[in-house]
Formats: sequence, C-alpha cells, structure tokens
Amino acid sequence: MGKFEGGGIIRVVLTGFRGSGKTTVGGILADRLGQPFIDTDSEIENKSGMPIEEIFKEYGEAHFRNLEREVIASLPESDCVVATGGGCVQSAENAANLRHDSLVFFLDVSPDVSYGRISESSRPALTDKDPVDEVKYLINLRYPAYLRSSDFRIDADREAGAVADDIVRIIADAATPVSDSDIAAGEDSAGVLRYREVLRSFSGVPMPERKSEQLFSYVRKHPLGSICAIAGRPSGHSRTPYLFNTIFERYGIPAHCTYLEKETAGDVADTVRSCGLRAVSVTIPFKEEIIPYLDEINEDARAIGAVNTVFNTGNMSNTGGAGGRLLGSNTDWYGVMKPLVESGVKVKSKKAVVIGAGGASRAAVYALMKLGADVTVVNRTVGRAEKLAADMNASLIEGGCLQTDGKPVEIPCKAGEIEMLREIMPDIIINATSIGMRAEDTPVDRENRVCLRKGVCVFDLVYTPPVTRLLFEARTAGCTVISGVEMFVYQAAEQLFRYFGIRVDADEIRNILR
Ligand code: NAP
Repeated sequence: MGKFEGGGIIRVVLTGFRGSGKTTVGGILADRLGQPFIDTDSEIENKSGMPIEEIFKEYGEAHFRNLEREVIASLPESDCVVATGGGCVQSAENAANLRHDSLVFFLDVSPDVSYGRISESSRPALTDKDPVDEVKYLINLRYPAYLRSSDFRIDADREAGAVADDIVRIIADAATPVSDSDIAAGEDSAGVLRYREVLRSFSGVPMPERKSEQLFSYVRKHPLGSICAIAGRPSGHSRTPYLFNTIFERYGIPAHCTYLEKETAGDVADTVRSCGLRAVSVTIPFKEEIIPYLDEINEDARAIGAVNTVFNTGNMSNTGGAGGRLLGSNTDWYGVMKPLVESGVKVKSKKAVVIGAGGASRAAVYALMKLGADVTVVNRTVGRAEKLAADMNASLIEGGCLQTDGKPVEIPCKAGEIEMLREIMPDIIINATSIGMRAEDTPVDRENRVCLRKGVCVFDLVYTPPVTRLLFEARTAGCTVISGVEMFVYQAAEQLFRYFGIRVDADEIRNILR
C-alpha cells in the first residue's frame, strides 16, 4: 500500500465489537493488501501464554487491559493490518497509539447480528447481564468511543469479503490525490466529489492569509481526510486551527482544521453536512443559534443553553457525510471546572460570584454549581443575571442534575448587582465579562477591591491579555489566580478527545499556544 502522498499513513486498524468480524475481515484485508495481519487478542494470548478467558478468570479484566495496552503500544509502525479487541478504544492511550500514522476503521455491527456471531464463542462475560443484553449494553456503551477513535465507519452486518472490499476501495480513494487532470476530466470519484464540495462551500469564506489554499491543498492530497473547523463570525482570530493542526501532526492523525465564517448558523450546519466535516468548534455568535440545526444535544449543552462542540457521526462513512447526525455538546464549562480542580481550589459549599451574564457566564455558573458552590451571578444588566440564575436552577435543581461527586445539586444560584461583591465577600470570583481586554480595565472597581484578599481564588475568563489588570491586582493582594488561557486549554483538550478519542496533556497545549 505504501505511504500516503505526503501523509505517512501506513497502518490499517480495524476496531469495533467482537461480533463485527474484525478478525476475519482483517485476515482477508491483509491478504488483499499483501500486508501482515496482527490480531491484538492473539498477541495478548501469545504474550501471556494463556487464552483470554483464562486471563479474565485468573487475573481479572484490569490485568487483561494492562496486557492489551502493552501490546497496542508496541505494534509495528510499518505497513500492516491490525484488528483490535472490542473494548480497547475506551482507553484514550490506546486510541492515540492505534491512530498514530494509521487509518482506523470502525466495523459497526447491530447487536442482533453480533450476538448471532459470538453466541457460540468462549468470549468471557464482562457484566452480570444475560448474554443478549450484555451485547446490546456493551455496543451502546462503547459506541461513542468507536466513533471518535476511528476515521471511517463501515456497516459490518454483512459478509466479511464485502466489508473488506469496501475498505480496500476507501483506502484506494483516500490514498489517491486529486489531480488537475481528474478535475478537468469531470471525474466523479469520491475524492473529486469531496474536493469540489469543499471548494464550493469554502470559497469566499474569510480566512487568514494562505489558509484557504492550505485547506484546498489538504483535500487534494487527502481526499477523504477528516476536516474540522472553527465556526464563528469572525473566526480568523481563533487559535484553534493552529493548535489542532499542530496536534494532528504530532499524533499522526489524518486531519486538518480550518476556519468557517458563515452568515448564519444554518449555513454552518449545511457546510458540515455537505462537506462531511468531522467536527466544528463553535464560537460567537453561533453557540446558541446552532442548536436548532443539530440532531442531538447533550445534557450539559441543554442546561447551559449553548453548544461549542459539534461532532458529525456521518463524517467517517465514505458517503461524504450523508446520513450523519450532528451531536452538540459544551466543553466551555469543562474549561472552567478543570482549572479550578487542578489548582486545588476548594469549591464545595464555598461562596462564588460570577461577574457577567452572557454565554461564558452560563458555562461558569454551571461548572460551579456542579462542583457544589454557593453561586451568585452579578451583572450590569441585572435582569439578565436573574434570568440566568432562574434557568440554571430550573435545569440543575428542578431538573435533578448531579454534582460531579454524584450527589444532587442543592444550592440554588442567586442573582444581583455588581455592587453585591463586597457584601458577599466571595471565596471565588470569576470574571465572565469582556472587561479586561484593555489593559486599564477591570470589572472589580475600587469599592469592591476589598474582596481581593489572601485565600480568594480569582479566575478571569478573558484570555487576551493572559494576565489582566484584575489578575495582576488579585495576585498582588495574595489571591490564587487563574488565567482565561486555562479555560481555552481545557475546553480545547476536551474537544480533541470528543473529536478524535485522544487525551492531550494540558502542558502540551500550553506549550503549543505559548
Ligand atoms: P457575552 O455573551 O457578550 O457577555 C458579555 C458580558 O459582559 C455581559 O454580561 C455584559 O453585560 C458584560 N459586559 C460587557 N461590557 C461591559 C461593561 N463595559 N461593563 C459591565 N459589564 C459589561 O460574552 P461571552 O461570550 O459570555 O464572553 C465573555 C468573556 O469571556 C469574553 O471576554 C470572552 O473572551 C471570554 N471567554 C473566554 C473563553 C476562554 O476560553 N477563555 C471562552 C469563552 C469566552 P450586559 O449583560 O449588561 O451587557
């Protein structure tokens, strides 16, 4: 098969549930491609000198997963076809190792067909459910991991030879760059169709210099490669494409991130579908507007009322995205929650004030309430703060949402004027306004500055500049300070996980952004 033009993709990985026939498909595929075949379960058996069911019986699943991790970490980097164990991509470490310089195919099988195929096998039980229910349960549980960890989803409810045929064809399409003569000849191969659609949808989209040429050239070289974008109006200032493209390069992932500045959220969703984009990160003004155009949004996004993360389940089937479902979620709240937790700030039952009542504030209030804080949201326009508090109480308290420690959220959010800061004397202050982007501005004025004292945590969501006047004054007063850069780092890390199944360390992201 050889290296992909300019891409260095040399391994083919098949993942999915055991009854998807990965091993059989893998054997046929390896024959057709003339490559060695590696079945990770057999490698584990060889390494440990005992069958898998015995490993489970003797040492338990955790031991098996360790062996699996070792086998996957030491897979050859050369051309080969690999079939993985069914649960392995639930580990982000395995997903990253499998993905490196590989094309990953998810063999998607329905529970009934799967059960029919494995019912006679000696596969060890992983739950105490009856076997039919266990298959359904495990496929459902693992489905998101299969989707995010693979490049293509293949219907595997079919005979193994037909599945292998499809994979051979996709590999050929993915490895054949789109040439000028293909385009001139009016070819309608999958690659040419994709290229034409990307050209149509992205021509005229405002982008920083040379970025549209980079996108078009990427699609020509990797016609079926994954494409992500930052969707906003404007979007050209975003550092997401630079960050993601650096990570794709380092992690050997066949993907490219670009800019998607469109007139409306509907135009954004249309482009995601028509070009088969893998994912879009959504920013102002589309975070709320995109919701009606999505097929599904998760609980966090519904409660916050905003989506910043859209994953397209159809991007991977070689249909150019047709039939894909757009799943919306929110990682902004995660970008507030994680830095608080990582800094060791005590949040449970502590008094927290969030200044501002826009989208970022909603994410911050959600994060604080999920961590069990006693939150007050204060804002220039008090009515907006009251509405925010009422919405959050309805979704988190009346909606019966759980705290991160699994207990119900109990403390209702309150609302008021910015002047309330000095009455509350909070333990945690989060600035969720845009005040601070100019060096001389701060949302905590002279009268409220008494709140900045030792032991208080001040988190400024503004990230340009990284150290705002508020953070400077808070640090001088002995507060623990957290920069808005941290929110960007953690929300991006979580998006990379939701889009590609990899966990990138916060330090690595910080260094790239530096
Ligand atoms: P937004 O929806 O426009 O909300 C802006 C908020 O700031 C509103 O509450 C507004 O009050 C208040 N505000 C604006 N100017 C003000 C002024 N001069 N005096 C008093 N209040 C003022 O914006 P957003 O999307 O929530 O973003 C807020 C901030 O968070 C921005 O700086 C943004 O860059 C930052 N952010 C950071 C990240 C990150 O990754 N670090 C992610 C998202 C957002 P009114 O309601 O009275 O208008």
